[in-house]
Amino acid sequence: MVDPSLLPLDPHRLPDRGEWFSPDAERHLLDRPKFCPTCGGSLDNGMITEYWRSDERVFYTWCPSCSWTGNVVKVDRATIFEAEH
Ligand SMILES: [Zn+2]
Repeated sequence: MVDPSLLPLDPHRLPDRGEWFSPDAERHLLDRPKFCPTCGGSLDNGMITEYWRSDERVFYTWCPSCSWTGNVVKVDRATIFEAEH
């Protein structure tokens, strides 16, 4: 469980800490995308639905500023290859 003082304000009430899904709800609140990957607008009034695909956490996201819709995937580590110059 996350220290409650570290959690940002949420317009929706978090479940009671004794509920089995409470840690997942807290992680969602902390890890969800905050800004649109296309226009940079705030996603506070957007739609962000989280689902899991194998060990990936996928945030299906809609931006209210530019209407971008897509998936944002949370990763713990990325391996990127850079082409030689
Ligand atoms: Zn946007």
